[in-house]
Amino acid sequence: MHEMSLMQGVLDILQDSAKSQSFSRVKTVWLEIGALSGVDPDAMRFCFEATTRDTLADGAVLDIAETPGQAWCMQCSQPAEIAARFDPCPHCGSYRLQVTGGDQMRVKELEVE
Ligand SMILES: [Zn+2]
Repeated sequence: MHEMSLMQGVLDILQDSAKSQSFSRVKTVWLEIGALSGVDPDAMRFCFEATTRDTLADGAVLDIAETPGQAWCMQCSQPAEIAARFDPCPHCGSYRLQVTGGDQMRVKELEVE
């Protein structure tokens, strides 16, 4: 599963931060998932427990914030919010959109001890 390796990547980030910021347990992980990132939040939730078992984040809470897809319409020169890649501009219907945000997944914040 695609999300399994993504979650492994998240765990790598947690372990690196634990080393550089010297904490030993992660209590909460805030994950930001863009609507255009192609990452399924439910699948990430599903993978979280299995991936973090017996690690520094064992038993931690996963909080996922979904951010909307953002684009710039080159036709009507204004920002547009889109739900999926290759959606038309909600203002003018043009497909000449440049994605400007909401296409990534990132660890936003950690609660540690
Ligand atoms: Zn437009």
